[in-house]
Formats: sequence, structure tokens, C-alpha cells
Amino acid sequence: VRAVRRRAKYIIIDLSPSEDCLVLHLGMSGSIRISGKSAQPEKRPHDHMEIDFRSGKRLIFNDPRRFGAVYLIPAPALDRHKAFVHLGPEPLEDGFSAAGLHARLKGRTMPIKQAIMDQSIVVGVGNIYACEALFRAGIRPTLAAGRVSLKRLEALAGHICAVLAEAIAAGGSSLRDHRRVDGDMGYFQHSFGVYDRAGEACPGCDCKPSRTGGIKRIVQGGRSTFYCPRKQS
Ligand SMILES: [Zn+2]
Repeated sequence: VRAVRRRAKYIIIDLSPSEDCLVLHLGMSGSIRISGKSAQPEKRPHDHMEIDFRSGKRLIFNDPRRFGAVYLIPAPALDRHKAFVHLGPEPLEDGFSAAGLHARLKGRTMPIKQAIMDQSIVVGVGNIYACEALFRAGIRPTLAAGRVSLKRLEALAGHICAVLAEAIAAGGSSLRDHRRVDGDMGYFQHSFGVYDRAGEACPGCDCKPSRTGGIKRIVQGGRSTFYCPRKQS
């Protein structure tokens, strides 16, 4: 193993000397655990792949719902592989900018919330983070993506980066069964402005649940969207 990196939802393990990449996708609820040097590592239901290292450690890929994937791809062909060829930029890397976002959204009628969750436009903005970034930017999630001005996209791009950076620092947020590689549970993040808070008042705003109904929940593309109709236009 020369390096371990990530692109969108894929974990990429660069191998040597073969110059292949072992690519893992955890699907909905898959996990990787790395066991110590004990002679008999613990077996669990849904362990689908085991890799033994010379050190005596073992990497185990567990995938209860079988939505995960494992590929072995020659490194020079990685970018052209079907898993990677259509992916947009990483929000926390240099290729992400409001100008690039503006160009990709030009003429698009899909709602801005669904656009920023579209992996071909920008990767890694999950449902919670899309709601929170749009809330902070004051942009209504139902607005047609192509009609959001460059100035507003500049604010949105900044908030996407900030929301993701905060979530990473907090150890992630979403799945209740998420586990870290050492088997401990991930941390939970409870500091959401609008997510999962329908009917409540949003922070820093004059929305009164008794008068205005507070934070609204709607469904877009089969996913829950939370927003404040007073703050987001
Ligand atoms: Zn509000």
C-alpha cells in the first residue's frame, strides 16, 4: 500500500508494484475495520472481503445491505472508469469555485438543492449539508439552479466548504450505524440550523412557529428538505 485517498464516495488504495488501485465504496451502511495481530480475528455476519497484511493485521470489509462495491483498476485508467468519469470537483479542493458552479448550472431548471447534491456538478454534498449550506446562504432550496446569481453562488460555495469542514471536525453526522475503523461509533452533530427541525424557529431569525410555522419540511427528489421561508428566498 503506497497511499490511501478518497474521491467522492470512493476510498482509493494505491498499490505497488502493480500500479493498480483497489477501490472501495461503502454503499449505504458498509464499513471497514482493521483488526490487530490476534490469531483469530473476530468474524461477523456480512464480512464480504478480508485482506491479510504481512504485519499480521487484517482489513475486513463488512457490507450488511450489499450496496457496496470493490474494484481493482489500473491506475492510468482510473479517471476513465465508469465510477469516476462523470464526477464533478471536490468541494474542499482547488477545482471548486463559484465561477465553475455558475458555468455548470447555466440554463439548468432543476432546483438548486438537487443541483448541489448532483455528483456530476459537485461531489460530497449530502442531504444534511445541502440543507444547512442553503440555509446559511439564504437561498431557497426550490429555486431553479440556473437562476441563482454568481454573487449568491459565491456565498453558497463558501458555506458548503464551511459546513463540510465543521462536520469533518465533529466526526461526521448522518448515519446512526456509522462506525470508525477502530469500531467506535462516529460522533453525532447536533448543531444543525434547519435540518430535522420542522416547526421550530431557526437560529438568528424572527420566524415564530406560532405565527409563521417556523422551519418548513418539503420533499425534493425523494429526500427531506428543511428551510426557513423567511430567511431563504
Ligand atoms: Zn427563520
